[in-house]
Amino acid sequence: MTAETSLSGGLSRAPAYSCYVKPGAALSSHSSAAARALAPGPVSFTVDVEHPPAPGAGPDEATAPTLRLVDFLDARGISGTFFTTDEMARATPALVREIAARGHEIGSHGDRHIPLARRAVGEFASGMAAAKARLEDLTGSPVQGFRAPLFSLRPDAAFAIEALHAAGFTYSSSVVPGPAWIGGWPGAPRVPFRWPCGLIECPVPVVRLAGRFLPLLGGMYLRVIPEHDASRLASRLAGQMLWTYCHPYDIDTEAPLALWRGLGLFASLMLHYNRAATLRRWTLLAANPAPPLGARLEETTVEVFQWRAQRQGEIARGKKP
Ligand SMILES: [Zn+2]
Repeated sequence: MTAETSLSGGLSRAPAYSCYVKPGAALSSHSSAAARALAPGPVSFTVDVEHPPAPGAGPDEATAPTLRLVDFLDARGISGTFFTTDEMARATPALVREIAARGHEIGSHGDRHIPLARRAVGEFASGMAAAKARLEDLTGSPVQGFRAPLFSLRPDAAFAIEALHAAGFTYSSSVVPGPAWIGGWPGAPRVPFRWPCGLIECPVPVVRLAGRFLPLLGGMYLRVIPEHDASRLASRLAGQMLWTYCHPYDIDTEAPLALWRGLGLFASLMLHYNRAATLRRWTLLAANPAPPLGARLEETTVEVFQWRAQRQGEIARGKKP
């Protein structure tokens, strides 16, 4: 990384959301200790608003659990970031309006929920510009943030970086900074950084385990890894910008087990397993909340990640591009 720059220099408009913890929301030392056991610092709350790709499921199936997540955060005086697919925005505009009206940040979870590497650059650029404009029309506020479907901002989808910047996004939250089972940009910094075009990246907080980088604080990992193991691993998160994520289906304990489109039985089981644990874990993390991601961009300075130079170096050393 080179050329330190200030994050605040890239922001031209103030975030639309207000405070993230209600005044007087004092935390007990017991709940704070429980939060510290799972994460060594304040944690932002994010939701990827999408519907499960189960047979017969559509955007309506995601509405009730999304509102439960909004209620959960509101009850604790926390503002979160809701990265919303364009499909959800088109099908459930009232839901997007309500989330924003209740003081949460709205970001984009893509115009299509497929890995970025499968997209053509022109189609992606125009789709993202339209998705961003739709969210801004619905909420009346600028949309700063993007989260790639399936954390698929990887070297094979690097075209997306400049396309997002050109579309007017300030930040992305889309990179697993290392070799991973899903996504993964080996060699990417584990702290917020700037891509050379100026787009800020807030990488997924990860722990290294068996040669892979795990997003310990989110999604399936939050449900599947037992709490005592998660506590044991949590110190490895130190120094990173911490945030958690879940999907509406991660809390939907009523949904029947289904074989998801494009997934086998084991993966479908993992995406169904132990869903009741998500809000239990979020309850612990909520004792030490951080502002929504868009409001944290000014809290630090970041360096530029010269990823092209890094790739050239890897190729010169004989690694596969
Ligand atoms: Zn998603």
